[in-house]
Amino acid sequence: MILFDIDGTILDMRSMILYVLQAYDRSRGNGFFRNLGISDITVHENTVDRLLAQLPLRPEEQEEVLSWYLKHRWTSAAIIESHRAFRGVLEVIRWFQIQPGTYVGLNTGRPEALRADTLHSLNKLGKDYRVSFTDELLHMNPAGWNEEVENAKVGGVLHFQKEGYRIFAMVDNEPDNLRAVSKIDPQQEILLLHADTIFESKRTKMPRRTVRGKVYDLTELIPEKALPERIQFVWHGVNDKANLRQFLASDIHWAEFDIRTDPVSNDLILRHDSLENTPQHEDEDRLTLDYLLSRLHKTGKGVKLDLKGDRTLVDRVLDMVDAYGLDESCLWFNAKVERLQERGFRRLASAHPSAVLQCPVSFLAPLILSAPRKAKEILTMFTDWGINRFSISWLTPDMRHFFDQMDQWGFEVNIYDVPDLESFLQAVLLMPRSITSDFNFPKWYYYGRGSGENGNHYEYSLQLSRGVMTVRRPGRV
Ligand SMILES: [Mg+2]
Repeated sequence: MILFDIDGTILDMRSMILYVLQAYDRSRGNGFFRNLGISDITVHENTVDRLLAQLPLRPEEQEEVLSWYLKHRWTSAAIIESHRAFRGVLEVIRWFQIQPGTYVGLNTGRPEALRADTLHSLNKLGKDYRVSFTDELLHMNPAGWNEEVENAKVGGVLHFQKEGYRIFAMVDNEPDNLRAVSKIDPQQEILLLHADTIFESKRTKMPRRTVRGKVYDLTELIPEKALPERIQFVWHGVNDKANLRQFLASDIHWAEFDIRTDPVSNDLILRHDSLENTPQHEDEDRLTLDYLLSRLHKTGKGVKLDLKGDRTLVDRVLDMVDAYGLDESCLWFNAKVERLQERGFRRLASAHPSAVLQCPVSFLAPLILSAPRKAKEILTMFTDWGINRFSISWLTPDMRHFFDQMDQWGFEVNIYDVPDLESFLQAVLLMPRSITSDFNFPKWYYYGRGSGENGNHYEYSLQLSRGVMTVRRPGRV
């Protein structure tokens, strides 16, 4: 079990401070805090008097605001409406929650009286991340407010140990709490992690073995070898030789190729953009579907064909796929519903019933939110056509809500349009059936070029310094 403190560790208490001060303004019709921003707050939630002293307020005004703040900061309304998690922390918690035999416990100095509000607000914040907290795994302070907090933290560790958990780490923003726990852990089994945010106690009191950090960074936490096996990964936009070479040399099973007809030669070619809208570049190396399948059909790699054309493309593509005898378990088709229409999808489904047949459905996002039953009817109609995978863009507004609804309905979902490694890992944590990505992850030694949309590819710059080659982050050319 890994233990997390809540205030100042999971929750950024500056949001609560700002919310309560602005609520004061509203209740009094004042504008004291109209121009106060979150980054102006550098004090702990227990020392708001110091913040007030820096503002142009008379002493009696400071006093009135402070007593109002102290009275209202832990009301249910403030807890539900104002609490915000630090960037990345809910993803980190989710990562631990999906590991086998691993639990996330909460070890807080908040008093028992706040138990229901605490669980309610944290579960509300966690919902989009598929994070949930339970009553049994929340340990609170049996003493009153801000009393014997260090004892409560030690009590939390002992409580969970008595329940049979082995505590392997504890994250807290207060050095005093970490020090108290270190004293009951002479074998140093517990990794002490200091959330270096805003804290009250002195940093010098921290045990020397404490590890400090200011950010929750998924790309540091999750290595490639720990990616869940049940998610299918697809290398997006393999339309040129450089990308194809990298894909073939990788352990990634699937690649997506954009297929369209060359209006001049009538060949089936690999290209994201139409030749009409984005004319051929002079040094563009253009690959044909025929060449691609001749390279791939014996490799056992998965072939995802994105049909960029209308129904007339279907039969030509099917003929070529059949000519190379590709196994259905290695076949995946994607197309827009308005291009292939019902007949095109039914044709693909009857030719290869066990292949993945996918269409993008990001256009349903507004309907999912406003009229979910209608959206479900439409999706069910698509499944009648033979479509068995729905693709949604990571960049869709309310994407997490959209995904959650699709998942609850039991549809298989592919996520695409993940811009970088961090977003890719965030998508992994949702555990969709598949993720399609450019593999533009220099941190993992993947230098995917992208599909060439609008004639652009990712560009990487190499730097040689004392014999060490480093690759800078990709940018679009
Ligand atoms: Mg704390």
